[in-house]
Amino acid sequence: MTAKILDGNALAQKLRADFKTRAEVLAAQGARPGLVVILVGEDAASQVYVRNKVNACAQAGFYSEKISYAPDVAAQVVLDKIAELNANPAIHGILVQLPLPKHFDTNALLEAIAPEKDVDGFHAENVGALMQGHPRFIPCTPYGVMKFLAEAGIDPKGQEAVVIGRSNIVGKPMAILLLNAGATVTVCHSQTRDLLFHTRRADILIAALGRPRFVTEEMVKPGAIVIDVGINRLQDGPDAGKLCGDVDFEAVKKIASAITPVPGGVGPMTITMLLANTLEAAERKLGFSR
Ligand code: NDP
Repeated sequence: MTAKILDGNALAQKLRADFKTRAEVLAAQGARPGLVVILVGEDAASQVYVRNKVNACAQAGFYSEKISYAPDVAAQVVLDKIAELNANPAIHGILVQLPLPKHFDTNALLEAIAPEKDVDGFHAENVGALMQGHPRFIPCTPYGVMKFLAEAGIDPKGQEAVVIGRSNIVGKPMAILLLNAGATVTVCHSQTRDLLFHTRRADILIAALGRPRFVTEEMVKPGAIVIDVGINRLQDGPDAGKLCGDVDFEAVKKIASAITPVPGGVGPMTITMLLANTLEAAERKLGFSR
């Protein structure tokens, strides 16, 4: 069997075209979707992520703005800016790029964002709503994975789903979404005793652990759907400098029924779902329901 390759770039492009049309409808009513991304510090990767987010918004016809602070900025300065943005009716989404410098209380900052503008879905109120099965905002990466499954006609209902990784931004919300969709979910992490036992049972296997090419052919059940969330830069060997996922793509694609590549899989979907959340926030404010 050779797996169907799930193309994140193609799906992202299709969704973004739809978002652009919806943004134009809102703009015509004087309510162009607006996102502000706050960046603290000079982390190179964060700067790239923020630039990509702001550019993607602009291309979809949204208003978007980056606000940058020096790494030693006082937390209160950022909190004051968030309060100002919370009160600004032209801004529908506020995102604080993580990680923050050490002197910040990340949780306090995330909780300062108005829940109805928390397009990352990290505010405790939004996490709670997701847990209860009526999400307001779904964290972007797991939201993108669910879109992938839907687009490929894969219904998680009744399936054995295994998620490797239990972070607040990927693993945990991923597991909840699959559970809400009717899958039987196992969450694995660094303390899991027999990872192989779990992964080999998975009809749907989500790898989100941040270890290059960790998931090998022997860990995957033949015919499984494999979603690779990992983004790793290889340090050595013939592919040094290249990006790769948490899955050994070349080996696993021979036995899976569907698989996402890295790059070009989940990555492009993450920013796309940030656009989705911003758009949904703006539509909700105008009373549109979906
Ligand atoms: P974290 O480092 O926060 O979490 C990694 C998780 O994997 C932890 O729960 C950890 O377990 C678990 N883990 C680590 N090693 C092992 C192991 N050997 N066996 C089993 N479990 C293990 O990472 P994130 O969740 O933030 O990100 C995961 C990956 O996804 C990264 O590669 C990241 O770059 C990528 N990513 C990609 C995105 C995209 O847009 N495609 C967006 C966000 C992240 P424990 O909790 O016990 O430590």
